[in-house]
Amino acid sequence: MRIVLLGAPGSGKGTQAQRLAQERGMPQISTGDLLRGAVAAGTALGTRAKAAMDAGRLVEDAIVLGIIAERLDAPDVRQGFVLDGFPRNIEQATALDAMLAKLGQPLDAVVLMEVDRTELVRRISGRRTCRDCGRVFNVSTAGGSGAPDEACPKEGGPHRLFQRPDDNEHTVAERLKVYDEKTKPLVEFYRVQGLLRTIKAEGSVLEVAKRLDAALGISKRPAIARRHRPPAGALSAPRARNRSTPKRSR
Ligand code: AMP
Repeated sequence: MRIVLLGAPGSGKGTQAQRLAQERGMPQISTGDLLRGAVAAGTALGTRAKAAMDAGRLVEDAIVLGIIAERLDAPDVRQGFVLDGFPRNIEQATALDAMLAKLGQPLDAVVLMEVDRTELVRRISGRRTCRDCGRVFNVSTAGGSGAPDEACPKEGGPHRLFQRPDDNEHTVAERLKVYDEKTKPLVEFYRVQGLLRTIKAEGSVLEVAKRLDAALGISKRPAIARRHRPPAGALSAPRARNRSTPKRSR
């Protein structure tokens, strides 16, 4: 499947894209991650992007479209992908349509992830990322420490969490404004194309995952998901209880 996750900063696009990547083996293409990588590596492109990112504005289309064109050219995206944080304006969406038409691989679905504004701000201020594996956690939903007790799959030790520099109060306000002005028009753009599906993206990660899978017509969790599921904890317990429910036929 070729999917776009659409939503404001903090709506959970990255978390759900990472999950789909892990469970389904679909590459997650996050322009935010690619740009942060370029900034960290000190490339010329990263240097050009940094000022806009620090201020919460959009990086210029030429840079972002160049990154995306290169990424869509890689062989791993032939089996599908999940785009997270791209497109972010009508120009990018139009360019994406043209690139995918050229590849003969049009989008299958665009899912709008809706979250209340107060909840968005709460989530963004609690967001933490593992320096090593890149997984995203939240101090407000993960028992205070930010990350579960599991080991980092890359380094083996505990996750080393940091807060993104653009997740500060001032930049967040600007990013939400940019979302309203530049990205929201994409809702209508994709509705007209018949690609738009909308889900309520509040609640636990698992609840949102179920709604997203339903919106995408994914009914069963694949074998890869069962292998990667943590041995105990929030993900497995409710599922075990649900399976026993039909036995109460007295
Ligand atoms: P994100 O990780 O998606 O929240 O993106 C972080 C920052 O990277 C944004 O605030 C923008 O400055 C920049 N960025 C990410 N994706 C795009 C995009 N598609 N177009 C322009 N700028 C982007």
